[in-house]
Amino acid sequence: MKTELRTDITIAQICKGFEYSELENKGLYGLDGRLVIQPEYQRNYIYNEGNKDIKVVESVLSGYPLGVLYFVRNGDHLEVLDGQQRITSLGRFFVNSFSVGVDDAKPKKYGALDSDKRELFNQTRLLIYICEGTETEIKKWFETINIAGVPLNEQELLNAVYSGPFVSAARAKFSNSRDSHQQIWQTYVAGSPQRQDILATALTWVAAAKVGKTKTEKRRQYMCDHRMDANISEMVDYFERVIGWAASMFKTIRPELRGLDWGRLYETFHGEHYDPVALNNRVEELFDDPYVKNRRGIYEYVLDGERQKQLLDIRIFDEATKRKVYNIQTAKARESGSSNCPICAASENSAIRSKIYAYKAMEADHVTPWSKGGATDMANCQMLCVIHNRQKGNK
Ligand SMILES: [Zn+2]
Repeated sequence: MKTELRTDITIAQICKGFEYSELENKGLYGLDGRLVIQPEYQRNYIYNEGNKDIKVVESVLSGYPLGVLYFVRNGDHLEVLDGQQRITSLGRFFVNSFSVGVDDAKPKKYGALDSDKRELFNQTRLLIYICEGTETEIKKWFETINIAGVPLNEQELLNAVYSGPFVSAARAKFSNSRDSHQQIWQTYVAGSPQRQDILATALTWVAAAKVGKTKTEKRRQYMCDHRMDANISEMVDYFERVIGWAASMFKTIRPELRGLDWGRLYETFHGEHYDPVALNNRVEELFDDPYVKNRRGIYEYVLDGERQKQLLDIRIFDEATKRKVYNIQTAKARESGSSNCPICAASENSAIRSKIYAYKAMEADHVTPWSKGGATDMANCQMLCVIHNRQKGNK
């Protein structure tokens, strides 16, 4: 990767041709149109919150350094990788969007500054690194320099590395928090549109069939394959099909729906036929069941024909209950000379029939299974030796 340190560019040059979009809250261009201040992967302008923009300009007018800015060369133009908030602050001041007071003077806009202050602002040179390299190199570099600021998350990094028509169209679709579809999308998808979480999910779902070891690698491959493609309909259609299927299956909107792997559930179960009334009644029952600890697992549990009980994380017997049951069983067993495991006690083998197990060698078992309505309480608890408990559990 090539990096070039520039110390000759002034604030006036950076601010030349500055454009700001009030609608999108972002700085667009500088350097006479050659600098893209806010590429697709960047977040919107937030420096006007908490007057950070005023502090940036105050620093300049007081002669303090602004810190290093990082640009990436992309064809014939430059993109701001790190420093867009600072540059947007400078640009907005330059076009008289806000006032700054220096040395206790009354706050002034750029156009009303004393000429020496205006010259100081204009002629201040910035410290800029410009980098140029392969996707991998740039990505690695992003990850390194991001240690300083709010780190870009995985999807923001991917948007940066694969910036182009696909990312632009995809962001326009999924990353606008004011879009009317967001309410229904966010019923099923966790995270924030601005941080690219909805887009990340749409990509993950559509890319699931691609080769790659991890979800991120598949997403990366999909973005790479479609980089120059402004048509995002395959991804949008698939995303909407998954959400539409989820919405048609489960009628009650609950927070537990949010953030499940609906893409995988759709792929696994959308070809199955269900009785929608029975399915939804069963979901209600399980939500009311005090022994179900993992309520988010209920949906997959019912879709999969109630086979994988571990999805529900059924409440287990507590230590006090197990101890009590153990003591009662063991006392009775000693009295009658038989094993304290009821299944061992019925064995043909006399050594096993009278074996007394230590507490640690036994496990608690539901006499009537949870799936048949058995409670997790003392009346429904028996202690079995480890071997018999595991045998029973596998049936
Ligand atoms: Zn046993």
